[in-house]
Amino acid sequence: MQKYLKEMAQRGQEGGDAVTITSKKLTSHPDRSETRIFEHFVQFYETDAFLLEIVSDFIRAGLQTGDVCIVIATKLHQEGLAEQLKATGLDITDVQARGVYLCLDAEETLRKLSVDGWPDAERLTQIIGSCIVQAAKGRHHVRVFGEMVALLWSEGKQDAAIHLEALWNDLSYAIPSFSLLCAYPIQSFAGVKHAGSFSQICQQHAQVLPDENYAHLSNPNEHFRTIALLQQQAHSLPAEIAGRKALEKALLHSAAIIEFSDDAILSKDLDGVVTSWNAAAERMYGYSAQEIVGQPVSLLFPPDRQDEFLKIMTRIRQGERVHSYETRRVRKDGTPLTVSVTISPVKDSGGTIIGASAIARDITEHKQLEARCRQLFDSNLIGVFVSDFAGTFLEANNAFLDLLGYTRAELQARTILRDALTPPEWHFLSQQAIQALQEAGVSGTYEKEYLHKNGRRVPVLVAVTRIGYTNTCIGCVLDISERRELEKRKDEFIGIASHELKTPVTSLKGFLGLLQRLSTTQGDEKMSYYLTRMDAQITRLTKLINDLLDLSKMQAGQLLYREERIEIDTLVQEVIEMIEGATQTHRLLLEGRTRALVVGDYDRIGQALTNLINNAIKYSPEADKILVRLAKDHSSIQVSVHDFGIGIDDEDQRKIFERFYQVAGAEEKNSSGLGIGLYITHDIVKQHGGRLWVESKKGEGSVFYITLPLAEAKEREAL
Ligand code: ADP
Repeated sequence: MQKYLKEMAQRGQEGGDAVTITSKKLTSHPDRSETRIFEHFVQFYETDAFLLEIVSDFIRAGLQTGDVCIVIATKLHQEGLAEQLKATGLDITDVQARGVYLCLDAEETLRKLSVDGWPDAERLTQIIGSCIVQAAKGRHHVRVFGEMVALLWSEGKQDAAIHLEALWNDLSYAIPSFSLLCAYPIQSFAGVKHAGSFSQICQQHAQVLPDENYAHLSNPNEHFRTIALLQQQAHSLPAEIAGRKALEKALLHSAAIIEFSDDAILSKDLDGVVTSWNAAAERMYGYSAQEIVGQPVSLLFPPDRQDEFLKIMTRIRQGERVHSYETRRVRKDGTPLTVSVTISPVKDSGGTIIGASAIARDITEHKQLEARCRQLFDSNLIGVFVSDFAGTFLEANNAFLDLLGYTRAELQARTILRDALTPPEWHFLSQQAIQALQEAGVSGTYEKEYLHKNGRRVPVLVAVTRIGYTNTCIGCVLDISERRELEKRKDEFIGIASHELKTPVTSLKGFLGLLQRLSTTQGDEKMSYYLTRMDAQITRLTKLINDLLDLSKMQAGQLLYREERIEIDTLVQEVIEMIEGATQTHRLLLEGRTRALVVGDYDRIGQALTNLINNAIKYSPEADKILVRLAKDHSSIQVSVHDFGIGIDDEDQRKIFERFYQVAGAEEKNSSGLGIGLYITHDIVKQHGGRLWVESKKGEGSVFYITLPLAEAKEREAL
């Protein structure tokens, strides 16, 4: 029992003056001059047992000193108190019969003295005040134990409780002296939010008595120790709160991730009752959280898969995780969907499995696509393979295996390797493809050769795409042997045809020369005029035949190059002079000098430059000049041919060096040609260890660049 209450009870017993505890508020009441004895205590408690002990001591001591005791308590507490008092030997029936022990029901009394749920001053005076006055009969001190404030507090009506406490204080002015003991369960003040109202409750009381955990304190030393401990706890609180806030933030963050996830995330208890459901689950299955939480998760299972739940839960109960499990589910509207689900056990803080969480991804489309891909794979229309970037073939269809003469067993043994399957000169293409896959995810199409198991070369067209962000790719392979064969035959035909054409055309040229001389001797001007025009056409025809012959020799690797030291300035000058003599439309302006030597075939380099300048003239019909520039750096010379003509767009710039490629525009239509000039030029430059490229903008002209290594650089390299 608490020391203070004990002291009070004792002094009363000794017949001395009752302890006068006058609340500050009351002593300074403006309307009253006399001092009344009013004691207002508040006792906090954790357990009912402690409360009953305190109240029973309070009552028993009062009765012993001749006080009248009024108990305004809940039914439960009234009964408990009666038990407690009986146990101390008090005859309840007797004290009640004598009118010194009165019991009022707290709930009922509170209802009576409230107006619209708010304790009313007048009613308190009427109901409780008059009761106290009557009990005191003008001479007795009255002790009251009241629980109405605690009731209000427990109902969440904190303001009303504080108000009633204040009304009790005011009541003390109107009636004889009395002592009032209030009690609140300390748990009802748990939480930082109650700090203010708790202090207000304390302020309403002259004496605040702590709960049973601190009631035993008897000496000052112990008091200080306890206060110090409480201070430490109080100081720990901000850190604790900060920690909890951080946790709360993290939880909110996780909750947001769950809510905004594209995957359906849900949880269920061990019986399969849904306990949480995110927005994606709502979208995926069509049920709102409100509809499904509390319902069995088996609502999502199609009739033929109802037994899945038990199987999954058996594994979950054993603490197992069900990873990326592909299955079918059904939406609220009855439509089926294919999902990939990962289900994990959910444990409570003690580690006991209390349910499961499921993350589900709708893979319906993915599956449909997969089925279509599988169809393409199995159709064997073209070879399809899956390989890793290192070059091991992981999967392939029969078309691919048949093309290269390998068996499925060899594939499964992972013994089919890209590098072994590819002739060395094509390895660079594989490397380029891998680089493109890493950078862009696709390789584009490229032609190469594979080696059949029997050693035969198989020309193929390949296109590869990366699988997601993995280091694996899927590729399509088309056998182009037949096309290659046709191309070979076509090349052969061009070779034969141009060769066969060359002899008669050379004879024609010879006879033409004779005729021209004859017409000059005869002074036949008309004939001379026509023969000159004929000569121009035969020259053109000769060039076309020569180009075709060059092309077929190039294809067959039979084009031979002389190796001589060439003064590049002289060569360029000569080419310009030759073309200038034959053109009336354009001026050829030469800029720069290199005084450099290059090594190579004088005629072929001249042919390359002639092609570029003739094109510049041909594709700039509106312009009247061409700029030819010569430049040099420490290792190479550069010749550029700049025209102010129709230009070439980006897409065509990439293709014009391919054989037979001609830009298909309205402006290009008027120009004659076979689309092989740049191909030949490119090959000549390449054979000389140089580079050819173009910079151009549609409508603004083009600049073609040739670089060739300096003779010294080439000779140094050869050493
Ligand atoms: P062609 O005999 O058709 O001129 P080329 O191989 O020399 O064949 O050139 C290929 C194509 O490139 C041409 O058909 C033309 O469309 C384009 N081209 C070449 N040079 C130029 C240029 N200076 N300006 C614009 N287009 C050009």
